[in-house]
Amino acid sequence: MADKYTELVSQGLGKNVAKRLGLPQPALLRRYRPGQPLIPGPVVIQGDSAAADKLGAELLSWDLDIRRHAVPGEKLGAIILVLDEVERPEDLGRTVLSAAASLRDLAPSGRVLTVSRPAAEAGSPAAAAARQGIDGLLRSLAKELRAGATGNGILLAEGVDITSPSALGAVRFFLSGRSAFVDGQFLKISDAGGALPQDADTPLAGKIAVVTGAARGIGAQIARTLHRDGATLVVVDLPAAGDHLAAVANEVKGTALQLDITRADAGQRIIDHAVQRHGRLDIVIHNAGITRDKLLANMDPARWDSVININIAAQLRINEALLASEHFNQSPRIVTVASTSGIAGNRGQTNYAASKGGVMGMVRATAPLLAGAGGTINAVAPGFIETEMTARIPLALRETARRLNSLKQGGQPADVAETIAFLASDSAGGISGEVLRVCGQNLVGA
Ligand code: NAD
Repeated sequence: MADKYTELVSQGLGKNVAKRLGLPQPALLRRYRPGQPLIPGPVVIQGDSAAADKLGAELLSWDLDIRRHAVPGEKLGAIILVLDEVERPEDLGRTVLSAAASLRDLAPSGRVLTVSRPAAEAGSPAAAAARQGIDGLLRSLAKELRAGATGNGILLAEGVDITSPSALGAVRFFLSGRSAFVDGQFLKISDAGGALPQDADTPLAGKIAVVTGAARGIGAQIARTLHRDGATLVVVDLPAAGDHLAAVANEVKGTALQLDITRADAGQRIIDHAVQRHGRLDIVIHNAGITRDKLLANMDPARWDSVININIAAQLRINEALLASEHFNQSPRIVTVASTSGIAGNRGQTNYAASKGGVMGMVRATAPLLAGAGGTINAVAPGFIETEMTARIPLALRETARRLNSLKQGGQPADVAETIAFLASDSAGGISGEVLRVCGQNLVGA
């Protein structure tokens, strides 16, 4: 579902008028539907390292149409640039310029994907320069793409092969419509862990998942998406949201837990409910969050404290209980919802940005604590998402905010939910301590 303006300028008279007046023309994005082809067209793999050949062989086994050389004029689903062996900035040109020739042939909602190594792990200044250059290159290229096409990058830590489950899981995520609103981002695969699902359409089959703040908005959509992907759900929200929560629980055939997550015993209550009703607990999604915006000069203690308490302090307390529990130690997954406000800052949101920055700090520091149990923790940082929260922003500001990204539109709750579902899956087992933005590549701020 696109916003009304996007629908209006996507066809007929509206499209012509927008074109003539030079108004923004956001594309209708390709979004994931189970059973649909992964990508609408051939995939060209550019690069001459062994990883390029290995990736080609893997993708052929997914029944994709793989090319090592593009045929001019043929519509392409994706272009993958494998740059894992670059040693000097001069090494980039050959692969990048061969890909350049195919860019005009990229289909609507097509994909450009780079595969490279983290600059911080490079063995020489020249290699670090080449690797960091890919960062600038990809982020710029993503801003040049049109018609809903996106550009993202996969960073393979030293020792991680392109054929490791999480690297292939990330390739699948970025090629698919699950990543529709993820643009201009890099995702690091830190170890070779993880496992690809037996059925790519039900990657969460058999998992028990808890979603907080699930009575409405993004949380309700996360519950629906995890259910579609095969998980059994426990949905959590405030007692005051009990009716809506019960409706979501019915819809996803899960159970409802009415709970204020700021209670001191919230973590134990979540574990007890999941174990008593479903026998286990595999996945926790920290989504509940609030805004209480004010300029800092006008901030009162109630606004500051409630945002810090709900958005970050409660998560820290719940995680402590999870980490201490014998019921949360078999490749557990935690995914938490941060915000681009916590990265780039936002006027009127010092309290919110402190809490969401806190979420990202917590994720990095908690990742090593979960590693022993084969667990992971990651954050998703949404930009402008079409929800009740953003519907309350005054019209002119809202319209500006939703257009200020490379895709010229707001994201849908489903876009956040798809990214969370991927990070909660077994195939993301080698990804931990990361923050992945779902923001259409915000043009303002970091
Ligand atoms: P929302 O207000 O529509 O839903 C939040 C839910 O959390 C509500 O159902 C609410 O009852 C619940 N909740 C609040 N306090 C709670 C508590 N103490 N205990 C249990 N439940 C509680 O918000 P949304 O837009 O769906 O946002 C969901 C998450 O995404 C939040 O963490 C928010 O900060 C984040 N986010 C949203 C956007 C956006 O554009 N909407 C952007 C960035 C980040």
